[in-house]
Amino acid sequence: MAIQKTEAIVLKTMPFRSTSLIVTFYTREFGKIKGIVKGVRQEGEMRGSLYELFSRVEIIYYEKLKSDLHLVSEGSLLESYASLREDLRRIATASYFVELVEELTEFYDPHRPIFDLLDLSFRYLASISFEKIAAIFEIHLLSEIGLLPFLEACLGCEKQVPEEGFFSIRQGGLLCEDCARKMAQDAKPIEAQTLACMRYFVKHDFEISLKKSTPAYGLAPFRSIIRQFIADRHSRPFKSLQFLEKIRPVLSI
Ligand SMILES: [Zn+2]
Repeated sequence: MAIQKTEAIVLKTMPFRSTSLIVTFYTREFGKIKGIVKGVRQEGEMRGSLYELFSRVEIIYYEKLKSDLHLVSEGSLLESYASLREDLRRIATASYFVELVEELTEFYDPHRPIFDLLDLSFRYLASISFEKIAAIFEIHLLSEIGLLPFLEACLGCEKQVPEEGFFSIRQGGLLCEDCARKMAQDAKPIEAQTLACMRYFVKHDFEISLKKSTPAYGLAPFRSIIRQFIADRHSRPFKSLQFLEKIRPVLSI
């Protein structure tokens, strides 16, 4: 039974028996893992905020070889992202990020950039537009797990599509007008600025992407395409996204 020490971000928690907690972490070194933390709850209540959702912690755990549930023996809080928790929109957006990572990544498949993406997104959620951070988050996560839509040229004939073209959710990327007509009934026009923005986010790191000016009409068409693309490749709806849609009219976001 190997002992491991790593930084991790809390993706999901679930009470277990009367005093324990099952926690899904995204670790810096080992990717997504699940561990049991014993004795952290008393009479159903959490003691301390160490394993709250979104927290960045350092954990020591015993790696169980015959089970997917490892034993977390020690933990210390590195960052609680306190400003994230002060606003319902930030909480809802961060919940969407952890749900995306929880649902779309495999266990024991380490991607340090995904750990960094969560960390940076939580830091910037307090000061930058939610839509922009979410758009960059989605593109960078899809890129890291190998699910990025094809945006370089036409999927059908490989012709360059320099500005506006068509996007097919089913085919998974960009099409020229001819190919869209011939091979994808679901293809919809994509505006030049939306396409340029997607391509920019793919090619640049998180913090440089944040500085990019977004289309005058906003990022709604961008997010709509990417959300449909993700939904098409995932078997069930994201609860956090449904919640975000529910609070959107109330909070005017
Ligand atoms: Zn084509």
